[in-house]
Amino acid sequence: MERVYNFSAGPSMLPVSVLEKAAAEMLNYQDSGMSVMEMSHRSPVYEKIIGEAETLLRKVMEIPDNYKVLFLQGGASTQFAAVPLNFLAKSGKADYILSGQFSTKAYKEAQKYGDVVAAASSKDANFTFVPKTDKASFRPDADYVHICFNNTIYGTKFSYIPDTGDIPLIADMSSCILSEPFDVSKFGVIYAGAQKNMSAAGLTVVIVREDLLGNAKEQTPSMLDYKLMADNDSMYNTPPCWCIYIAKLVYEWILELGGLQKMKEMNEAKAKLLYDYLDSQEYYQAPVEKESRSMMNVTFVTGDADLDKKFASEAAKCGLVNLKGHRSVGGMRASIYNAMPKEGVEKLVAFMKEFAENNPKK
Ligand SMILES: *Cc1c(COP(=O)(O)O)cnc(C)c1O
Repeated sequence: MERVYNFSAGPSMLPVSVLEKAAAEMLNYQDSGMSVMEMSHRSPVYEKIIGEAETLLRKVMEIPDNYKVLFLQGGASTQFAAVPLNFLAKSGKADYILSGQFSTKAYKEAQKYGDVVAAASSKDANFTFVPKTDKASFRPDADYVHICFNNTIYGTKFSYIPDTGDIPLIADMSSCILSEPFDVSKFGVIYAGAQKNMSAAGLTVVIVREDLLGNAKEQTPSMLDYKLMADNDSMYNTPPCWCIYIAKLVYEWILELGGLQKMKEMNEAKAKLLYDYLDSQEYYQAPVEKESRSMMNVTFVTGDADLDKKFASEAAKCGLVNLKGHRSVGGMRASIYNAMPKEGVEKLVAFMKEFAENNPKK
């Protein structure tokens, strides 16, 4: 079978050139006589890899010097607990914006550790938009405000960065990190599982403003203590060595393409192809409000569950795979992360037209 266009929400496509480079270096990494998978994480050759990965990520995202970059494990879901354990430090209060399933999971996890409330929610509208907030939406003495910037399941994204005044803003960016430039200085903490837009599953990147570190609750497990991880340069224990190496190759790939501004232009062009088509016809509906549309995850439905099912299975036969929507939403979802080529989206739109012609609704 040839390589397919993989529209999976995660783990998802990686750039072919990255996979080829990893394959070429698989058995004998730069004359070390071994694979990166087999190396001691404390060997000079590996220390160079993780060091370069951090330098490159700082360059790609223009991360200010007063932020630490941590290469951790546990996925974004583990950070749902680590965030309150590390940052519910003063009033013990935190305000969450509920814009989908992951932000709701983060909210419920945080409730185990403090006075955690929903400052805004679009749950009643089945999360078809991202709630609007202003400074008055948040408790002035909250220790932090938490958002999920791109809602992978529903296909929505914040069109604005919430104004929280002096309250640190913490963002789950698992499905939008590296898709466009973000002003890191607007956030206290950014975290992201790597398997959407950065690397293989197993690596979680946490970018944290230094002054927020050092206030973890006493019962915080060592592995979740960001200060301890920062003090040990992400080497408190064995880091996810292989995933960090792949991430390094992805950062290099982004820089070679022209950085995040270029990435954004390419992603906007891909998303526009799909949304323009969706807006031009009536066979498919896009359930999400226009202002909240995600650039990474595009959701749509035919309105007929049997047709949706047929769509996903026939598309797969044409090499367009993993288009079935999340079980809680139904319909279809096309995840078009950085590594999805424009041709993949063009093929998808062509398939959508063909499918609509061949399957008239009753
Ligand atoms: C995928 C995803 C998660 C869950 O990530 P894990 O790494 O599986 O824990 C959390 N938040 C967002 C926004 C995601 O896209």
